Amino acid sequence: MTTRRRSLATLAALLCGVALISAQPGDMAGRIRAEGQQRSRALALFRTLTDDIGARLTGSPAHMRAARWALDRFAEWGLASAHLEPYEFGRGWQLDQLSVAMIEPRYAPLIAYADAWSPSTAGVLSGRAVYVGDKTAPQIEAMAGQLRGAIVLTHLPQAEFVARDRPQPGLDDRPVATGNPALPQPRSTTPAAELMPLLKRAGAAVALRPSAYRDGTVGVTGNRATAPDSVPSIVVAGEQYNVMARLATEGKPVTLRVELRARYFEEDRNSYNVIADIPGTDPALRDQVVLVGAHLDSWHTGTGATDNADGAVAVMEAMRILRTLGASPRRTIRGALWSGEEQGLLGARAYVAQHFNTPAARDQLAVYLNDDPGSGRTLGFYMEGNKEAKGIFDRWLAPLKDLGATRNIIEGIGATDHVPFNEAGLPGFNVIKDFRAYDERMRHTNADYPERMNEDDLKQSAIVMATFAWQAAMRDGKIPRPPSR
Ligand SMILES: [Zn+2]
Repeated sequence: MTTRRRSLATLAALLCGVALISAQPGDMAGRIRAEGQQRSRALALFRTLTDDIGARLTGSPAHMRAARWALDRFAEWGLASAHLEPYEFGRGWQLDQLSVAMIEPRYAPLIAYADAWSPSTAGVLSGRAVYVGDKTAPQIEAMAGQLRGAIVLTHLPQAEFVARDRPQPGLDDRPVATGNPALPQPRSTTPAAELMPLLKRAGAAVALRPSAYRDGTVGVTGNRATAPDSVPSIVVAGEQYNVMARLATEGKPVTLRVELRARYFEEDRNSYNVIADIPGTDPALRDQVVLVGAHLDSWHTGTGATDNADGAVAVMEAMRILRTLGASPRRTIRGALWSGEEQGLLGARAYVAQHFNTPAARDQLAVYLNDDPGSGRTLGFYMEGNKEAKGIFDRWLAPLKDLGATRNIIEGIGATDHVPFNEAGLPGFNVIKDFRAYDERMRHTNADYPERMNEDDLKQSAIVMATFAWQAAMRDGKIPRPPSR
């Protein structure tokens, strides 16, 4: 290389470097990507939530551990006003011990889980199971003597299993049915609502019913209004329940051993949302809030990995990325980790009721972005029928397509934390995720484990969330309000 050519090359390299440096402050999208891909904390956060803390039932000590841990991370990253925000939830519950086994006609440990808020059994129960799945209410009443202190099989053998996932909405523009699909339920000749009070009056010791999921997968939720003196209740893997119910129907003895020990927590009837800010800097816009959120709570059987540690991690990591980059948004960007989602969107509902209860207050919410149902990467957003907002979101999504984003769809999706915002007339949108095996296998089951997610998808979801939050915080105009319904 001649001297002249070398100096030209040096000049070109210098100019290039200058261009890179001067482009950086404005190129937040590129910086968000670089931070989110090269220095990601997403997997480590996800491991803590799933492996270390595990299932996070609202009202349980585990949920409080998760909330305090998330609060500490927000504070450690230097977010402003990091705090826990209380709302009244009610009694907490935690499972301390559960074992369910068939003893006769042969020994077999059973895959079984207690309903959340089930009372404990009176110690270790052992005895011949009484099958009432095919009995009418008068027949059950006539069996009162047999039912006192009994282990009761309450339902018919499970005939129909969960076999399908909801359709994938992010892959083409055809209209698509969104939201939770209808799931087959266990059936009994006497409906459960009538059956359980009958069993309680008869003094039954515990009630067992089948799960409608296949292959040892057990779906379990629970009702926080369960009376502490109701009959303890347990869900058993469908196939195993069916073996016992068939034997019992044929009059063959089935002996079981059951122990359920659970604890209620009454001292603090509040639950808590975790909230933290990146304050806005534009005097005219900084009181407006771009809110990004996800529910931190889960049901109590698996680890709540896809429902919803992945969403919570996307929000935490998005906030970390923006803060680490020293982002100075025009509007305030606020991260929210809700609790009580699984019991009826309670945390988000409380937040909307407390903070957006006047027209002036509602006017300050620029947009709410939520990350919940599904797993895998973020494909786009459900636009809740808001065509104007879709035009804006489409422009923001286009540069993310090389990261696996596909499209925003005009349809809405119910049943998660953006709904209370929409009900208050506010623009709230949920991400579109993958539904492979989500409904059929993972949602609210003992199979919701971290293996269902990979690091790239966790990183991508955080980058999409951070990018959208940044765009919404910097835009001149607000996000158009939802069309009136
Ligand atoms: Zn859920």
